[in-house]
Amino acid sequence: MLPLFIVEPELWRQPDMSGRQWAFVSECITELRDSLAALGQPLVVRSGSAVEVLQSLHVEHGVTALWSHQETGNAWTYARDLAVGEWCRAKGIPWQEERQGGTIRRLGSRNGWAKRWDTFMAEPETPPPPALPSLSGIEPGAVPSPSDLSLRPDACPERQPGGMRAASTCLQSFITERGESYRTAMSSPLTGFEACSRLSPHLAWGTLSMRQVAQTTWQRQREIKASPGPHGAWRGALSSFSGRLHWRCHFTQKLEDEARLEFENLHPAYDGLRPAEPDAVRLEAWAKGETGLSFVDACMRSLTATGWMNFRMRAMLMAVASYHLWLDWRKPGEHLARLFTDYEPGIHWPQVQMQSGTTGINTVRIYNPVKQGHDQDPDGHFVRRWLPELAEVPDRFLQEPWKWDEAGRILGKTYPHPIVDHLAAAKEARQKVWAARRGSAFREEAQRIQDKHGSRKSGMPLTGRKRKAKTDNRQLPLLPEEEAAS
Ligand SMILES: Cc1cc2nc3c(=O)[nH]c(=O)nc-3n(C[C@H](O)[C@H](O)[C@H](O)COP(=O)(O)OP(=O)(O)OC[C@H]3O[C@@H](n4cnc5c(N)ncnc54)[C@H](O)[C@@H]3O)c2cc1C
Repeated sequence: MLPLFIVEPELWRQPDMSGRQWAFVSECITELRDSLAALGQPLVVRSGSAVEVLQSLHVEHGVTALWSHQETGNAWTYARDLAVGEWCRAKGIPWQEERQGGTIRRLGSRNGWAKRWDTFMAEPETPPPPALPSLSGIEPGAVPSPSDLSLRPDACPERQPGGMRAASTCLQSFITERGESYRTAMSSPLTGFEACSRLSPHLAWGTLSMRQVAQTTWQRQREIKASPGPHGAWRGALSSFSGRLHWRCHFTQKLEDEARLEFENLHPAYDGLRPAEPDAVRLEAWAKGETGLSFVDACMRSLTATGWMNFRMRAMLMAVASYHLWLDWRKPGEHLARLFTDYEPGIHWPQVQMQSGTTGINTVRIYNPVKQGHDQDPDGHFVRRWLPELAEVPDRFLQEPWKWDEAGRILGKTYPHPIVDHLAAAKEARQKVWAARRGSAFREEAQRIQDKHGSRKSGMPLTGRKRKAKTDNRQLPLLPEEEAAS
């Protein structure tokens, strides 16, 4: 058996990929190479297109079968998988793709999906092999540098480290120490860094499997239940966390089932609503953390430096781009994808559309960035850390520096004036988005989307289910993922 990692330069040239993601992945590969070497055969690394690499290994060594993990990636990896499948068929080589989580390929219907998730996660983990027979005459190959892949410099000084050791430490510290305040502390960027699990890059790049995380969490829940207590906030925290593991696959399933949502509005009623070519000045100000809306800018700068952000602040950043700045979701979505070390297309694109209001089945949630600042950063510590330009601004004006009498000393000089009047912009956006939701054609398509993708526990009623009251699409019940944001 040849343990192989194919580095595909063309993948790393895609607009959603970035240097920080590669830095994380290359740390993972380097560690895995050493771990496999200790078993007898180091990981072999080859660069090039997957088909070309497989073909050249086949010519040299004769490939009899191929195993890989099953991936719900972006459109580029989907096309690559089709090419690899074709190559395997042409060569008569069987290809076994192992399922990674709760996402199901060629799923007929969402009914019963959650139960299938539970069954899959409860199956025993596959143990690592005790030894790997060493293969002679195969060079392990070098792990490419960012410049080998023509990646642009991407400084991310506080990025999480890659590798299985880091993943295991992160999981253990969360379920035994950090996680107790999960429910109360997850929404603030001040406390979220410590209180959230921070497992997302490990789940995205495979240094932990979903089954490992789910089973470790269940085990800890059983221990807590069996112990005399007091349990503090642990029971609620772990139950909440466990629910989010379902959400991960609930979202990934959406992209698996409808790959076009990486590029197209899920609900066509929003086609043409925002200009296809976003306003370049607004996009740049948002992307650089220079909108003049201090909490938004602090979140963007923090994300740029750390590669991570909690759910609520990701949602707010996307909502400000989509509503207040009225930018089509695709370019802001690509920018966030590049900034996230944990970029996971199957979560990312459905979330981007949900926070932009283009799914047709979710409540339109327009965050007030000033209120979020007051709620989540009441003493201004977070804004002060990321916006040193505002050092002189008194606490009570930190979230709205333009209201300070002496704002003229700073605004337009070291820090920008707000790029929009956020209240007026939100009002205008709300009117435009709701206008697109009127009419029976809108509702019919929304129903199709709900039937295909919606949570079976909540959301719009499914076709055929008895409705309690006349449907008013302004009052669609919340999906569980929205409840967390409210
Ligand atoms: C616009 C936007 C884009 C996003 N893009 C990504 C992305 O590219 N990659 C990514 O992993 N997450 C993404 N998320 C979801 C969520 O914000 C992150 O999963 C979470 O913040 C990661 O931190 P954590 O591991 O500490 O999460 P925890 O709160 O500790 O949750 C544990 C795990 O559950 C899953 N999870 C948690 N919240 C969600 C959610 N709302 N939807 C789906 N799965 C969830 C993730 O796998 C996460 O790692 C996005 C959210 C938004 C609003």
